[in-house]
Amino acid sequence: MFIDEATVEVKAGDGGNGIVAFRREKYVPSGGPAGGDGGKGGDVVIQADHHVKTLIDFSRKRHFKGGRGRHGEGGRKKGSDGESTLLKVPLATQIFDSQTGEFLADLIVTGQTFVAAHGGEGGRGNPRFVTSSRQAPRFAETGSEGEERILKLSLKILADVAVIGLPNAGKSTLIAAVSAARPKIADYPFTTLEPNLGVIRLDAISQFVMADIPGLIRGAHKGAGLGHQFLKHIERAPVFIHMIDATAIQTETRQSGASLWRAFAVINRELRKWQPELLERPQLVGINKMDALAGDEEALEKVNKFQEKLKSLGCEIFSISAASGEGLQPLLWRTMELVLESRVQAQKELNLQISQGQSVQVTRVEPEAPLAIKEIARYEDGMSEWDVTGGAIEKMVKRFDMTNHEAMLFVHRHLEQKGTLIELKNAGVKIGDLVHIGKVAFAFEE
Ligand code: GDP
Ligand code: MG
Repeated sequence: MFIDEATVEVKAGDGGNGIVAFRREKYVPSGGPAGGDGGKGGDVVIQADHHVKTLIDFSRKRHFKGGRGRHGEGGRKKGSDGESTLLKVPLATQIFDSQTGEFLADLIVTGQTFVAAHGGEGGRGNPRFVTSSRQAPRFAETGSEGEERILKLSLKILADVAVIGLPNAGKSTLIAAVSAARPKIADYPFTTLEPNLGVIRLDAISQFVMADIPGLIRGAHKGAGLGHQFLKHIERAPVFIHMIDATAIQTETRQSGASLWRAFAVINRELRKWQPELLERPQLVGINKMDALAGDEEALEKVNKFQEKLKSLGCEIFSISAASGEGLQPLLWRTMELVLESRVQAQKELNLQISQGQSVQVTRVEPEAPLAIKEIARYEDGMSEWDVTGGAIEKMVKRFDMTNHEAMLFVHRHLEQKGTLIELKNAGVKIGDLVHIGKVAFAFEE
């Protein structure tokens, strides 16, 4: 299967800082607080687009950054938000976390997006910290950092059409005849695990991808002959071409066309047992190897009977010879029509999802880690040192200037309200102990 891969490093924009400012007015000695909030950092977003065909562009440029949010300004002016950065990828691009291998998203149709890295929040300006007892705060909040991560993009060509049928029906011969794919012909049915893919170009704008799916046999739905792997590939193809070997009829003795009927029914039974919905997909029947029946009136008549039976069931039938190429054009053009219909349908479903707000899949790089309090040293005088990580506390300390006494008090009060101080006490932190949070250390006080 054709796989195209790329690794990209994405970094969303940092949020802008909130600032400390005061109104300056004539005749007013010291005006009220007027520092603006910082703007939000720009996201890095990945979007599927059918105009993009490969991931080759990402082998040249690997780093993508969202724009930084601007800092706030005086007069309560908010900093502008950073620009988002959009990466366009081909349809059927799968996104993984490169470090953990975690699967993150599968972008299947045009317009589907994935937020690869979220921009940082803007910091709050000093007016936002006004309280009745603190009319003129002399601190503000810095913006938070934009998310950063390394992603693996992997393009898996999805087939528009799956060619199904019993072994020896001529599936590989068909795909070799109509595309540049060179599958093994008359190969042992289970030697290849992956279907062969071929791109069929009918004219400048009409093309589709066809997969030759080997190994469908009776019992495939139970796993016989690697049946599950093959059925999984079939699941994603919106259109089926069902190949039937017409020469089976020549070895048939009494009945008329029953061997063809059996071949047809065996495959459909496997599909139904695997997933009943698969029977609702459009299925074009190719009665193959018609060249070998030339002149055999008896056989041709039986094939006709079989065709009548299928037609009465509403099947679309094509008499073909994959080997000589006869009858292939009508089959391919009809296939193209069904493929186009399925694409329109997929796009409609996506639009519906977008209008319902489901398309943008959001995963945070770091969901807030739980609060962890660890004693890292204990001294003879009974005092201890602690390392505190996670929870709201670590993030908060990062975003305020802890050398600013007012800011320090603000953070302290906030942690008190959130119950974090009690948690510290419960963990054994005593008055006077040294507590490390991120890059700062302070003595624990009441
Ligand atoms: P698959 O198992 O369905 O992939 O079948 P293959 O494509 O490997 O074909 C099986 C055998 O049938 C090979 O020997 C082919 O040469 C032969 N075959 C395929 N298509 C035709 C056809 O249209 N006419 C004739 N006479 N033989 C064919
Ligand atoms: Mg084959």
